[in-house]
Amino acid sequence: MKWSWKIGNFLGIDVYLHTTFFLLIGWLALSYWFQENSLVAVVSGVGFILALFASVVFHEYGHALAARRFDVKTRDITLYPIGGVARLERIPEDPKQELWIAIAGPAVNVVIAVVLFLWLLINSALDPLSSLSLTGGSFLERLMVTNLFLVGFNLIPAFPMDGGRVLRALLATRLEYTRATQIAASVGQGMAFLFGFIGLFINPFLIFIALFVWIGAQGEARMVTLKSALGGIPVNRAMLTNFTVLSQDDSLAKVVDYVLSGDQKDFPVVAEGQVVGVLSQSAILDGLRRNGEATLVGSVMRTDFQTADSFEMLDTAFARLQNCDCHTIPILHQEQLVGLLTMDNVGEFIRIQSILGTSNA
Ligand code: ZN
Repeated sequence: MKWSWKIGNFLGIDVYLHTTFFLLIGWLALSYWFQENSLVAVVSGVGFILALFASVVFHEYGHALAARRFDVKTRDITLYPIGGVARLERIPEDPKQELWIAIAGPAVNVVIAVVLFLWLLINSALDPLSSLSLTGGSFLERLMVTNLFLVGFNLIPAFPMDGGRVLRALLATRLEYTRATQIAASVGQGMAFLFGFIGLFINPFLIFIALFVWIGAQGEARMVTLKSALGGIPVNRAMLTNFTVLSQDDSLAKVVDYVLSGDQKDFPVVAEGQVVGVLSQSAILDGLRRNGEATLVGSVMRTDFQTADSFEMLDTAFARLQNCDCHTIPILHQEQLVGLLTMDNVGEFIRIQSILGTSNA
């Protein structure tokens, strides 16, 4: 990942810090320095940022652990100045699960805020909110307010915020997944524009946030349309579902008929409902050359083949396709063959998506 520093691995997940996080710390340190003109203020200010940073880490683990409940692994977590991103290995099958995963992050911040509130209440240390400022007021109370801010901020229905994912999940219960993403991304950019506009009058920091949201929303929309971001799309959006299946006892004569009458090059071989091999174009030619048309599929098929799950992200499946020294990988779901992924049809998918993407942009 570009512009990110690995800071550790907790509960089996790598955590990265994005370079812009340092920008934020630098910006705050400078503003403390100019406001208070003392090193103590800078140190306590940066200490506060680190506490805030911890809240963001907990927030991301909220997502990651919710995802784990649904058997979805988290590839890594990257922390940006205004939140983090937990990159999930695949999209949960059920949009409702995505909804829970998206909500789990902000829920963690609610819990942190409630715990801090109760602690302050018990110790009768609650100050009126008006006495708080960026640098002044009780440390814990500021942390409580900031956690509430994180909740509100993350629930704005704009990518890359959780609210954007909640919106997409809600849309995806009714619409096709890529379409739902495009709509949610457009809403995100609209919100970003609004932020930027309001920021011009109220707080320049809002412009910074708007820029971040805009780029995030654009990235999310591009995810649906460009090869660089196949990661946002499950394999089942791009796989071939109309294909011919062979059995081990089929002869190459039969296969030749299929080859000549259609445009399928590689064939999955199935026995008792399970994929047991892949017969590639080169293996067909090789078999014909050596033993003629009577050769059985089972004797020339490849048995060491890669597979992918239909709900896996396209980028990982595509990477496997590129590294497998093959042209086709069978796509399984719950051990059943549901499709084929080939270089050709991934390329086709990207072309179609980019046309749809530009006409919708
Ligand atoms: Zn989140």
